[in-house]
Amino acid sequence: MKNFDFYNPTHIAFGKDRIADLAQLVPATAKVLILVGGASAEKTGTLAQVREALGARTHSTFSGIEPNPSFETAMKAVEMVRAQGFDFLLAVGGGSVIDATKFIAAAVPFEGDAWDILLKFGGNITQALPFGVVLTLPATGSEMNHGAVITRHALGAKLPFRSRHVYPQFAILDPTKTYTLPAKQLANGVVDAFVHTVEQYLTYPVNAPVQDRFAEGLLQTLIEIGPRLLSASEPDYDDRANLVWTATLALNGLIGAGVPQDWATHMIGHELTAKYNIDHARTLAVVLPAMLNERRAQKHDKLLQYGQRVWGIQSGSDEQRISAAIEATRDFFERMGLPTRLSAYGLGQDAVDLVLAQLQAHGMTQLGEHGDVSLAVSRRVLEAAL
Ligand code: NAP
Ligand code: FE
Repeated sequence: MKNFDFYNPTHIAFGKDRIADLAQLVPATAKVLILVGGASAEKTGTLAQVREALGARTHSTFSGIEPNPSFETAMKAVEMVRAQGFDFLLAVGGGSVIDATKFIAAAVPFEGDAWDILLKFGGNITQALPFGVVLTLPATGSEMNHGAVITRHALGAKLPFRSRHVYPQFAILDPTKTYTLPAKQLANGVVDAFVHTVEQYLTYPVNAPVQDRFAEGLLQTLIEIGPRLLSASEPDYDDRANLVWTATLALNGLIGAGVPQDWATHMIGHELTAKYNIDHARTLAVVLPAMLNERRAQKHDKLLQYGQRVWGIQSGSDEQRISAAIEATRDFFERMGLPTRLSAYGLGQDAVDLVLAQLQAHGMTQLGEHGDVSLAVSRRVLEAAL
């Protein structure tokens, strides 16, 4: 195992009816800005529950944070916070609202052009406003981590940043809040959490069996409950609870401690979203099978272990077992309703060229756990995914 720091200060309040706990979790004297996406928080009644739990605290709501949150929208919230002196932010939503809130929290006290936060991947953040989360969509793990991804439409850029200053103070995870999700968002959540786990597991062995077993447990849980989530006629509380907690654990730092990390699939996926507005998880479903096939030599040992332990693939030559593991992954995404080819989105060779140009423009030229996913490798991956 490699050396690591593990630091995660986010207080998790998990279970039914936990929104009422906001009364204790938010400082009594806080002046709160609630941040939401489109209409869902209002329509589902979650926003009303949040406002009630905040009681006598002064609060306002900023709505309109879009999926794949934009710098442009976030900066409007930054102006509102600065002008009206809010001192606590409360994200009510999925990864997009949470990511935007992290950026707003860091941008409010930031001196200079806030886009520099993205250009430096967060390394220049020295402070941020405190904030909490009410999660409505299990997928990203953003509710318990220190990363976020922001899109700037004017530049066609979708860039990540990280900072220890943007861990949520708390996250309320009420599985019943997922009951109103459309099937597509549930499926996206399963696949995003699956790929987060793969990015921290399917690299090369470092004698960290405990980390491997954590990751394999998360993957097996998603494989078990994923199809059931889609076929159930009524939401099942325990399946929803397991989905929520699996998605959080997939990207809260736990399984990534002491092991190599890949993230090439995510970085290429971000460019596809920036360029073609394809849902985040859907870009991952397209890129990952092609990436695993392209990297089968570098990932040889872990691909065999993944095939055997996660999919029960025991027989055949090494190469046959690796192919079967990659095909099982592709088949799982397809069964969850996520296409695994660019052609499903009407994209062809032109798109490959455009995405390559974006990767180059954003310095994404040495991706992966070995830093050897060059532009030429990314090109082969995208062409294989056509
Ligand atoms: P999302 O973009 O936050 O939400 C997708 C859609 O789901 C929105 O239209 C939203 O509607 C709707 N929705 C949310 N909760 C709902 C509910 N309970 N009932 C009905 N509809 C609901 O989706 P996401 O997958 O969670 O977030 C994706 C973003 O996170 C991407 O930008 C991705 O790059 C990023 N990401 C971040 C991390 C990280 O670690 N920070 C990791 C992976 C991905 P409304 O707008 O109307 O609310
Ligand atoms: Fe993701």
